[in-house]
Amino acid sequence: MKDLARCPFCGFEDGEVGYLPGGGGYYYVHCNCCECRGPTCPTQDRAVNAWNKLNEELMAYIDRLEDKTAYDDESLEKLFGRPIFLRSV
Ligand SMILES: [Zn+2]
Repeated sequence: MKDLARCPFCGFEDGEVGYLPGGGGYYYVHCNCCECRGPTCPTQDRAVNAWNKLNEELMAYIDRLEDKTAYDDESLEKLFGRPIFLRSV
């Protein structure tokens, strides 16, 4: 399995692959630090790739911001056209 990028939300390296049964089953990467969850995918590799890509996209987006404190879930959702994080409460 590929290396996991840092968590795109909290920046810690504490991600692990999780599995959701049902509908054939789905894999996702979950952060043990901030509890956010990456996209669900049919294979582990794809879940890791999606997580790493999310990290790259977010870092590129944040780099372009003039005010680096101005990003939040809502602005990210507008930018990417889909919800980015499924954070458990
Ligand atoms: Zn995190």
